[in-house]
Amino acid sequence: MIRVVAVDGPAGSGKSTVSQAVATALGLAVLDTGAMYRVVTLAALEAGVDLDDGAALGDLARTAALDLDGGVRLDGRDVRDAIRGPEVTAAVSRVSAHPAVREVLVARQREWATTRGGGVVEGRDIGTVVFPDAPLKIYLTADEVERARRRQRDETAADRTADVRTVAADLARRDRMDATRAASPLTAAADAVVVDTTAMTREEVVAHVVELAHRHLGPAA
Ligand code: C5P
Repeated sequence: MIRVVAVDGPAGSGKSTVSQAVATALGLAVLDTGAMYRVVTLAALEAGVDLDDGAALGDLARTAALDLDGGVRLDGRDVRDAIRGPEVTAAVSRVSAHPAVREVLVARQREWATTRGGGVVEGRDIGTVVFPDAPLKIYLTADEVERARRRQRDETAADRTADVRTVAADLARRDRMDATRAASPLTAAADAVVVDTTAMTREEVVAHVVELAHRHLGPAA
C-alpha cells in the first residue's frame, strides 16, 4: 500500500500550510498539485495558447519541463511568484478543466509518489481520482468568509494587494468551476475525513491530521 496522505478541499481551506506541516511532522515529502496546474497555465499564457484548446494544452503539459523539487521551475526558470499572480489565478480553472491536461499531470503525480514510496499530496481530486486507495484522505473545508480572510492574508504577505471582496469573489468563482466541471470535480471522497477548520487554529488542524496519519499509515518501510 502506498503511504499517501491525500489532502483535498476548496481554495483557501488551508491545504498548503497544513500539508507542509504534516509532511514535516511525518518525515514525508509534499506535492502541491495546484502548483502543477498553475505552471501549465503560466506556460499557456506565455505561449499564447488558446485556453479552450484542450489538445494543445495537453501537449504543453506533456512537453513543459516542470520541476517542483526545491521551488517551482518552468524550463529552468523560477516561477514560484509568477504562478500566484492574478493572470494565472484567473485562468487556472479553465485550464485544469481539460481532461487532456489532467491526464498528463495525474500520471506525473502518481509517478512522483511511487518513486518516493508515498508523501503528502494536496489538491482537488487526490482522494477521488489520483490515489483512490490512499490510506488516509483528508477533506479540509472552512466557511467562505474565513477562507477569503486567510487568502487575503497570504496575498498581503506576498506583497500582492487584494481587497477581501475581490478575493472572496475569486474564490467563489474558482470553487464553482472546480466543483461543477465534468472531469474530476472537486468533491470529498466517500471515505475522506472531513475537517472543518473554520474555528480551528493551524496547530490544531495539523495535530489532528498527524494523529490520524499515525493511525492509518502504518510504519515506514
Ligand atoms: O491549490 P490551488 O488553489 O493553487 O489550485 C489552483 C487550481 O488548480 C484550482 O483552482 C483548480 O482549478 C486546479 N487544481 C485541480 N486539481 C488539483 C489541484 C488544483 O484542478 N488536484
